Amino acid sequence: MDDAGASASRPEEAARSQTHPFQAEVAELLNLMVHSVYSETDIFLRELISNGSDACDKLRYESIARPELLAGADRFAIRILPDKATGTLSIADTGIGMDRQELIDNLGTVARSGTKAFLKGLSEAKEGAGLIGQFGIGFYAAFMVADRITVTSRRAGSGEAWVWTSSGGAGFDVAPASAEQAARVPRGTEILLHLKEDAKRYLEPFELERIIRSYSDHILFPIELVDDKGEARQVNAASALWQRSKSELKQEDYTQAYRSLAMAFDEPALTLHYKVEGRQSYAVLLFIPSTPPFDLADPIRKGRVKLYVRRVFITDDADLLPAWLRFVRGVVDSEDLPLNVSREMLQNNPQVTQIRNGLTGRVLGELESTATKDAEAYAKIWEAFGPVLKEGLYEDRERRDQLLALARFSTTAGSGMRSLEAYVADLKPNQTEIYYLVGESAERIRSNPKLEAARARGIEVLLLTDPIDAFWTVMPQELGGKKLKSLSQGDVDFGLIPLLDKREADQPEREAAKQDDEALIASVKAMLGDTVSDVRASQRLTDSAACLVATAQGRDRELERLLARQNRGGVTKPILELNMRHDLVCALAAAHADKREAEAADIAFLLLDQAHILDGEMPSDPAAFAKRLNALVVRGLRAG
Ligand code: ADP
Repeated sequence: MDDAGASASRPEEAARSQTHPFQAEVAELLNLMVHSVYSETDIFLRELISNGSDACDKLRYESIARPELLAGADRFAIRILPDKATGTLSIADTGIGMDRQELIDNLGTVARSGTKAFLKGLSEAKEGAGLIGQFGIGFYAAFMVADRITVTSRRAGSGEAWVWTSSGGAGFDVAPASAEQAARVPRGTEILLHLKEDAKRYLEPFELERIIRSYSDHILFPIELVDDKGEARQVNAASALWQRSKSELKQEDYTQAYRSLAMAFDEPALTLHYKVEGRQSYAVLLFIPSTPPFDLADPIRKGRVKLYVRRVFITDDADLLPAWLRFVRGVVDSEDLPLNVSREMLQNNPQVTQIRNGLTGRVLGELESTATKDAEAYAKIWEAFGPVLKEGLYEDRERRDQLLALARFSTTAGSGMRSLEAYVADLKPNQTEIYYLVGESAERIRSNPKLEAARARGIEVLLLTDPIDAFWTVMPQELGGKKLKSLSQGDVDFGLIPLLDKREADQPEREAAKQDDEALIASVKAMLGDTVSDVRASQRLTDSAACLVATAQGRDRELERLLARQNRGGVTKPILELNMRHDLVCALAAAHADKREAEAADIAFLLLDQAHILDGEMPSDPAAFAKRLNALVVRGLRAG
């Protein structure tokens, strides 16, 4: 950035070795690596090779515009050299390299969101060691096997090389490379690991070869292993798996490719491998993981599908899938996009849009066919990624119907997950809508009084408990002509749907009683004033006395609460619904008829406050609530 300034201070300052502290997170991570009880230390090699491969990718990409950067070393490769005499293992690449500042920034801080999520997960979970394996932790994993690490690096095109050294602990040194060191690294980066006593097996070529083959076989650059005799030999296939034909490949090949592309340890739950030829030609290799990655809820919400153009890696930042498919991992290799396409150009590129539509359709199609062919496997996928897929119900109008058909829900009908198709097939006579309730947990919703009338009729209700559920239900949704309808909003009319228990059915309402009800409701409304937007007789309740619902045009109350918690938007006034047959409401009616105004008001406010409590909210004035409750209880006790 500031070349003049840097060179002015260079002779004095930078020529000497400088010690730098690690960022606190790195220190924490290193401490963990050093004392790691994690047994699968092999992954350090995968991480370093992957960094070397990324560095080669970056340089290959930059050199499209600036071919002079390739001077110094003509080919891209990653070379592994064990040295039993010194007890060191070297992993060297001819990639982009790092200058002094990059060494300090990149190898002194935690940049990747995955590592941050890992540290967070670690502070929440007790069993930390297992987590290391669940996703890579990058360069620092090398401290599991080395007690000292020397990194010598030369940025492509630069005349100078720099050396970074650390023994873990609090910090690292950065110094200019000696002539001998600089000569060893004409371009790129050499990581020299001084292996710990119990990690000396990583000096055995057969051991190294085994690890490379199992974790890094698909890396596109040659990985060369130098044997005891000093001879280098390429040990990986270095071919683009996605360009090969399906018939050549075994599930095991795919699993390995998945693990290495996604830095994962699980099996892919779904694999898609196909080629498109026509207006555009491209090869696709996509995976759906079987376990959700740690950063699934990452607010950046980016997909991780890598874009290659004719076997050259371009970016993993190209929005090749919508955010609601961000758990999909893999590669798209285009034959048509220009090699020098810039990341900015990709953003509104019609070819990319076309690819995205194609990929999205294929992924959904694959999910649909899994759902039909193997319901159990599909249920697992939905459990892991359903909350993310549901974002599409909100964001993607075109895919809404398709996604709704893919969705699975807990319902009041049993403990399993149900599709809307199954729900609709089991509709009650005269039922024309699909009912749901949004809430914090299935247990909480199950005890919600708003379910009472539905329960009395055996009507199935969807129990929506993901935070996203409050959002997508705002959009009109329907399946097979049946609209989704919240039981906590607007009117419900179960009038034509028969009750399960026939004895309760069809008690004809006397005209006189109806008029009394209306008079009572009008006076309750007057007592409660503007704390509610309306008061009415409830169709939802059978056992409870009162509940609150949102107006038909307003927002669902659960969504309002969610937004209010995030300070986004206030709370609107709900409608109070009264169960006209409940004893407390009858007592209110009696007090009202006898002109015991104070008592009637106490009961009215108590009904309102308990409806708030049933929704998991505080009464608006807790002290007044307690006072009224006490007054009524005391009155009741004295009377008894
Ligand atoms: P990640 O690779 O996920 O970003 P790491 O901790 O492994 O995380 O590496 C941090 C950064 O250090 C990388 O993003 C990269 O910029 C740099 N780096 C690591 N290894 C190399 C290398 N061999 N060549 C060039 N840069 C590297």
